[in-house]
Order: sequence, then C-alpha cells, then structure tokens
Amino acid sequence: MCKLIAVANQKGGVGKTVTTFNLGAALAEKGKKVLLIDLDPQANLSEYFGFYADGKPTMSQLISEVTVHAEIEAETVRSAIRISDNGMSYIPADLSLAAMESAMSTALSRETIIKRILSEEVTGEYDYVLMDCLPSLGILLINALSAADNVLIPVQTQKFSMDGLSALTALYRQIKATINPKLEIAGILPTMADSTTVSRNALEKLAERHNKAVFETVIHKSIEAAKSTESGIALCKSRSRLGGEYMRLADEILERCS
Ligand code: ATP
Ligand code: MG
Repeated sequence: MCKLIAVANQKGGVGKTVTTFNLGAALAEKGKKVLLIDLDPQANLSEYFGFYADGKPTMSQLISEVTVHAEIEAETVRSAIRISDNGMSYIPADLSLAAMESAMSTALSRETIIKRILSEEVTGEYDYVLMDCLPSLGILLINALSAADNVLIPVQTQKFSMDGLSALTALYRQIKATINPKLEIAGILPTMADSTTVSRNALEKLAERHNKAVFETVIHKSIEAAKSTESGIALCKSRSRLGGEYMRLADEILERCS
C-alpha cells in the first residue's frame, strides 16, 4: 500500500523542501517507488528539480480541474507527472498555485481536493508519495493533511523552534477527528542542528516535550544542503554527512510508515 506523507510546518525555512527532495531520493535509493508533489506556490521543490514550464499541467491546473468538475481522471493526473534527470517522479507547482487557494476556499468539499487528485489509481503505482507543503496553515495544508497517511514535521533546532508547533498539532488533531481518522504523525525531524548551546537546548526541549515522536536521526547544518539545491544532485548521491543522515531518516520512515 502506498503511504502518503505530508512534510509540513507553517514556519518558513525549516528544511521542508530539502527534506522532501532528499528523503524522496534516499527512499528511491533503497528501492522504493517515490512520487514527490510540490504543494507550495514558491515552487522551490520544482526549482530543485530544474523544472521549467513545458505546457503540461502542474498542480495548479489539476486543482483547478477539481474545483470546477469536482473530480479528475487519473490519466490527467498522470500526465502531470514529470521524470527528472535523476530519475525521480514529481508533479511541479508554479506561482499560479497561490491564486488557486482562493478558488479552493469556495469549492464544495474543499478539504479533499488534493485527496481526489491523489486517488489510489494514481498513487497505487508508488510506495511513497511525499508532499512538500507551503509555510502556512491555510487550505493547501489542510488538503495535504486530509489526503495524507502521515505528517513529517521538520523543526529547525533554533531558539524559537517550538513556536507554532502547537498550532500545527492542533490542526492535525482536528483533521484526524473529522476528515481523516487514519492520519498519524510520522515524526518530528530536528534540522539544521549545530554545536551551539541554542541548538543543543532546542534538541533537549524537543525530546522532553515530544519524546518518541522525535526521530532519532538529526539533520545537521551544512553548506551541502544549499549546494544540493543548486546542483539538483541529491545529498545521498554524494558522500556527504547530510546524505548519510537522510539515508538513516529513510530507514526510520520505512520502520514507522509501512
Ligand atoms: P519554506 O517554508 O520557505 O518552504 P522550507 O521549510 O522548505 O522553506 P528549505 O527551503 O528546505 O526550507 O530550506 C531553507 C533554507 O535552508 C534553504 O536555503 C536551504 O538551502 C537551507 N537548508 C536546508 N536544510 C539545511 C541544512 N541541513 N543545513 C544548512 N542549510 C539548510
Ligand atoms: Mg519549502
């Protein structure tokens, strides 16, 4: 059975996109079939893949189709899947996704638009679908959580790292209680850790407050991340520290979400 994982935190710049791309690549390295979905109008994940407009549908057109016709053919969704140079499957986003948010807000059953796009007919060909969410608690995130089996929450190990986590977990509980009872937290992923006291304190606090929900894998701060986003080469493809960390995260995901 395919597992849909939303990579989410409404805080910006915590490592959602770098995690989606590199966890996806690490799972693929381990032989899993992976589809990545860009759910952010900033389209950073699509940029990571080196995506350029090619006339085929992006997430914006798929969402538009569902807001107008309430449903969408699996074939149309498949036509939006690109295969990147490094052999990964993804559906890109573009800036027009921002405008789709308002169209979504007035649609019927507006929480399940993404769920209808990512039907079993489409996702059945994959082991994991990872959704890179935007930094906001709006309708796109609600849709991602309504479609997902799990949510992975990257948290930057800095001073205000806990800020906003309670708002996200409150939304998680609301969605689990209403629209999507199967939704579970895959885990909280500490990112950009370094040797500073601030970072170590943040790690301690995360462990204290969230205990087993925190992944054992910690993603450290390294310039390798920015280099990877520029080159489009996944971290696990180079012999880097972060590459090893994302491979270990993939192992934890295989254990926790299978
Ligand atoms: P947004 O909320 O804007 O979508 P995000 O949560 O997706 O942001 P990323 O884009 O993944 O965050 O990362 C934010 C910035 O931090 C990027 O410039 C990225 O290169 C850098 N970065 C990500 N992970 C690391 C890391 N482990 N070490 C150092 N820098 C990192
Ligand atoms: Mg991002």
